Amino acid sequence: MNQDFITLTIGKQKNIALIAHDNKKADLITWCNDHKEILSTHFLCGTGTTARMITDKTGLPVKGYNSGPLGGDQQIGAKIVEGKIDFVIFFSDPLTSQPHDPDVKALLRIAQVYDIPIANNKATADFMIKSSCMNEEYEHCIINFHKNIKERSETL
Ligand code: PGA
Repeated sequence: MNQDFITLTIGKQKNIALIAHDNKKADLITWCNDHKEILSTHFLCGTGTTARMITDKTGLPVKGYNSGPLGGDQQIGAKIVEGKIDFVIFFSDPLTSQPHDPDVKALLRIAQVYDIPIANNKATADFMIKSSCMNEEYEHCIINFHKNIKERSETL
């Protein structure tokens, strides 16, 4: 068995984080409305303003973290590390500079490290939400950080 990696399971019920930059909030709310039935079968959370607006406009329950510029993206990144978020829909704005750009990059990076499905635009989100994996458990491999720490602490 290759102990460099461990297998984690994304359950049938996903823990979905929803985030939208200001110019994309309306698009994400429309997307949530379009997929309300599917989304209502999963656990939803999001950055503060996005979460509140989705709940207000669609009625879907969305647990809100801090607002993105005030650390919400980092909170979501930390939940990915803890295994408590396993699916991200992030309608980011490629045409407007963001004060919290380093946090946005950090979230994208940590999602990549933990092999978390993450959509940055509507087309990707559409493909993801219509995937057969939405109704199944999904096993993915991530780096075995415990082994990694042990080896590093013994060799550095
Ligand atoms: P918000 O944060 O939902 O609080 O607006 C989103 C972001 O800008 O990352």
